[in-house]
Amino acid sequence: MKVTSSPNTLASPSMLVAFDDTDSLESMCTTFLATEIVKALQNYDLIGPPRLVRLNPAVPWKTRGNGALCLNFGMGKGACRMIGEIDDLPVYSYDRMYEDADRRTVTRVSMAMVSKWSRTSEGASPGLVISQGKPSPGLYWKAVRGMMHMEEVTKELERIGAEAIGWEGGRGIIGASAAMAWRPKDRTYEIITYRRPERWGTPREIDDTSVQEMDRDHPSTFNNFDHRRGRRAISPHTPCPVLFGVRGDDPVALMHAAFSVRSERPASWLMFLSNQGTDDHLVRAPPTLPGRSYDFDCTVAGLSRTLVGGHVILPVTTSAGDLDCAAYEPSKEFREVVKALRPGDRLRAMGELREEPRTLNLEKLQVISLVEERRKVSNPRCPYCGGGTKSLGAAGGYRCKKCGRRNDLPPRTAVVPREISPGWYEPPVCARRHLSKPLKRSS
Ligand SMILES: [Zn+2]
Repeated sequence: MKVTSSPNTLASPSMLVAFDDTDSLESMCTTFLATEIVKALQNYDLIGPPRLVRLNPAVPWKTRGNGALCLNFGMGKGACRMIGEIDDLPVYSYDRMYEDADRRTVTRVSMAMVSKWSRTSEGASPGLVISQGKPSPGLYWKAVRGMMHMEEVTKELERIGAEAIGWEGGRGIIGASAAMAWRPKDRTYEIITYRRPERWGTPREIDDTSVQEMDRDHPSTFNNFDHRRGRRAISPHTPCPVLFGVRGDDPVALMHAAFSVRSERPASWLMFLSNQGTDDHLVRAPPTLPGRSYDFDCTVAGLSRTLVGGHVILPVTTSAGDLDCAAYEPSKEFREVVKALRPGDRLRAMGELREEPRTLNLEKLQVISLVEERRKVSNPRCPYCGGGTKSLGAAGGYRCKKCGRRNDLPPRTAVVPREISPGWYEPPVCARRHLSKPLKRSS
């Protein structure tokens, strides 16, 4: 008898399920589908928390947040913690598993759930990937920072023996594979709560004061509240099943924070491990290719100009050439920082390079150094008698009002105090990208 060992039983076992592009711009939410799949596969345990992986925000066909999901099912062992509740039943996540889930069951159930909940009539192009091993980490980095093509993904999925199912073109297979390929370097968590179905589409009942208090009392959470405008940032504006989502660095503190929000009673909640707020999308290089986001050094090349609509454009020079940076209207007070910059100021800037118009959408910036700004206070004094002078206009120079002699001295100037100081600046909470690392996390 010939005994063959499967590589899947030698490595730590896993039964990974990833999906993406199930929601349209208007409705649903791919994370909600995760709760439906967890519910449908409740005979198995979740191994590790579900993963919510945001991908390149610059890809033209992105859905609302361009986020893909990856779950791992099996029979758990070792430490476990409660990471959610679905229809009043607790959901646990285990550190390890002693047996993976049955591949055929997982495939059949997830396929049924993706078919049921995807919004293909509204332009979604869902993809589902089932695998016992992870794709190469390079797949994640390429999908978060650049563009991935289906052929590359298919080749990698074949190599690892993964199964991919697509609907309406199956564009979501790319994102699903990238989410599965993610090995966190930096990580955050998000607890998302979901509404009872009968409330979908109705105004969300959330007490803003409690959101403000949560933001104040739980410093490891971020992007909760826009204090300047007095607006919460935790709930979406679309009629989707999400009630609110709270993000943070510490899973335990995050749970206390999320439960401190006073709101309508959610139907379920689930904690996700995520690459949100990590800056994983930034390439540390001067901007060259559109559709990518960069982290680069530059020098302000001219004064900013404000366009109709309130967008502020700032010309800069990088080691790869000249570039227009933009602080768009929704970035509100961040635009004042950009307006206060002067030619010669040194910056480190971050943002996405757009194709048309070819501008870099600023996400964050560090003022490294400021030039001295001076303004004219008066004409020069006469160098011969010290008297006052008057300008000779187009001819240039000055003539003394007392002795009548001409001079070419520069006018007298004074240093103007700059309105900004060196340091980091970011747009308000409501205008931030999912992937942008809040300054709060950097300190
Ligand atoms: Zn004089």
